[in-house]
Amino acid sequence: MTSTAAQQGGTLNFDPQALREKYRLERDKRIRADGNDQYVEVTGDFSHYVDDPYITPGMTRDSVVRDVEVVIIGGGFGGMLAAARLRDAGITDFMLIEKGGGFGGTWYWNRYPGASCDIEAYVYLPLLEETGFVPRQKYTNAEETLEYCEVLAQRYRLHEHALLQTQVRQVVWQESSRRWQVVTDRGDQLQARFVIHSNGPLNRPKLPAIKGIDQFKGHTFHTSRWDYAYTGGTTFGDLSQLADKRVAVIGTGATAVQCVPHLAASAKALYVFQRTPSSIDVRDNQPTNPDWISKQTPGWQKRRQTNFESIMSGLPVKEDLVGDGWTEAFRNLFGGLGDSMPSKARLALWAVQGVFSSKRRERGLKQYLMDRAIQYMGLMQKMEMADFEKMEKVRARADEVVLEKSTAESLKPYYRQFCKRPCFHDEYLKSFNRDSVTLVDTDGRGVETFTETGVVFDGEEYEVDCIIFATGFEVGTDYSRRAGYSIEGVNGLTVTEKWQDGMATFHGLHARGFPNSFFFGPIQSGFTAAFTYALDENSIHAAYIIEQLQKRGATRVEASAKAESNWVKTVIQKARLTEDFQKSCTPGYYNNEGHVQFQPQNTFYGGGPMEFFGLMAKWRRKGKLDGLELSTHE
Ligand code: NDP
Repeated sequence: MTSTAAQQGGTLNFDPQALREKYRLERDKRIRADGNDQYVEVTGDFSHYVDDPYITPGMTRDSVVRDVEVVIIGGGFGGMLAAARLRDAGITDFMLIEKGGGFGGTWYWNRYPGASCDIEAYVYLPLLEETGFVPRQKYTNAEETLEYCEVLAQRYRLHEHALLQTQVRQVVWQESSRRWQVVTDRGDQLQARFVIHSNGPLNRPKLPAIKGIDQFKGHTFHTSRWDYAYTGGTTFGDLSQLADKRVAVIGTGATAVQCVPHLAASAKALYVFQRTPSSIDVRDNQPTNPDWISKQTPGWQKRRQTNFESIMSGLPVKEDLVGDGWTEAFRNLFGGLGDSMPSKARLALWAVQGVFSSKRRERGLKQYLMDRAIQYMGLMQKMEMADFEKMEKVRARADEVVLEKSTAESLKPYYRQFCKRPCFHDEYLKSFNRDSVTLVDTDGRGVETFTETGVVFDGEEYEVDCIIFATGFEVGTDYSRRAGYSIEGVNGLTVTEKWQDGMATFHGLHARGFPNSFFFGPIQSGFTAAFTYALDENSIHAAYIIEQLQKRGATRVEASAKAESNWVKTVIQKARLTEDFQKSCTPGYYNNEGHVQFQPQNTFYGGGPMEFFGLMAKWRRKGKLDGLELSTHE
């Protein structure tokens, strides 16, 4: 196990104070008064940006009007896992509604060239042991992921339960029948006993509200609706129709990092408009070793997933089974694997998670707290040093790979590694060595205007034939706006009203006023780097509760007011100490574009995902459905 110079107390080859100051300056120049309002919603004149390019338009079918036990909204991994776990629990009366033309959710939409998951496939793709599927590589790509979604759909017979190319419009609670009426854009009216909302945290594309965006006369699209009819090629690249095209990419986040190398290889000219560079670490993809996979013993995937998520949470483990850039980053941050992790580092982690703000403070142990506060400060500093060291390596990589010095300089990220999503790629930086590729470094300002013929920055117009928006997805906007449907609960209360002053849930899944509902999202719940892991845990939990209600003959379940308010308190206590970190970060969707309106209740469960899922498992083992109010029809 290697440890950093900072952890060893060795000599540093950087000046921490200078870096701190540089990070602050880089952040400050990016904070904009308009925050989230800098983006335009993809409605009205912009609604074509969310049309489905992967279907043949014109599909028709009869409307479905029927009672059903469970409606699952969303056909991504969350919806598929919910269906799989319901089936495992013997519940087969469910319908799954999905707006796309197939399963896959984020993978259905994001088929841009190079689309790939940089969490390793043996962890990310769920139910590998159940399906017997062997990913071809350590890091799977879009094509294989979609192929796997079809494997899951076949294995759990999802097609016979699915309403595809169908958008839910309205979900309304009907107290008299104790069912939800689910209305879709195809005239379906389903009376569902239970509804599972799994509509995806990053599902609604956003566009920059820049002057002239509607004036450009060339071709445009968002990366999550890739227009292969225009570019040619496939998710593997070879975008042959761009050979005579000048292309602009707006944005340099995780998506751009993956598609830029393919655009660079195919376009006549490529202009990459960068506001903030991503951190680009080594990826090192490898084919799956058949010998290794054949030697795995039953339960291997769960062990691997648990090992990965434990390392990501700073929990003690004996070895790092995954051994990649993610686990390395977290090992560095926490000072090694759990067994070798200095207890002080663990204290620091707990401090971040709010232990000090709850139990110990309540006990009033002032001296204890003061000692720990001093320790805590020291340890936070060590973590910061480890972060500096990591980011120095990331910045050095830009110098090693990129030939042109000023371009290499522009590609260096100056912020802490987890202020933005870290990226892992071995071709992105090289792309800028091509003569046909220009990095337009907007130095934090972003693109200024669009004209009929191109993109303007710093008074210079870059004439292009096509503009591709790699500008990400809405985060933190109203739940219904992102989901695309309204939800009206008891006495007409909407989720918009319920959550207007902050989230309130029980276990992140239930919301008082919305009986018989399950909300799959990371807020107030366990957030995992491999999001499929959290979705599966949510699915197991929801299936358990529905099965229990059926066994007990209950037709209505709702979180009690006390359970909900206690849960919100727990989330707040555990989350409190992340505000400073968010404030220190460069703007992005992680920190509400730098306008940190810190509402600790709007965060993940701060005790970490493994603690959270442990709590859920314990709650199920107890078998009492504590915190839930059950009733049967009179
Ligand atoms: P992001 O929100 O991460 O990135 C949006 C990009 O657009 C940023 O670089 C942003 O700059 C830039 N931008 C916005 N407005 C402007 C403007 N006016 N001018 C210039 N640039 C602008 O979206 P992504 O689609 O890249 O990624 C979203 C998420 O999807 C990731 O965070 C990750 O969770 C997931 N993902 C995971 C992948 C994986 O597994 N490898 C791959 C792809 C996505 P700025 O940074 O300054 O705001």
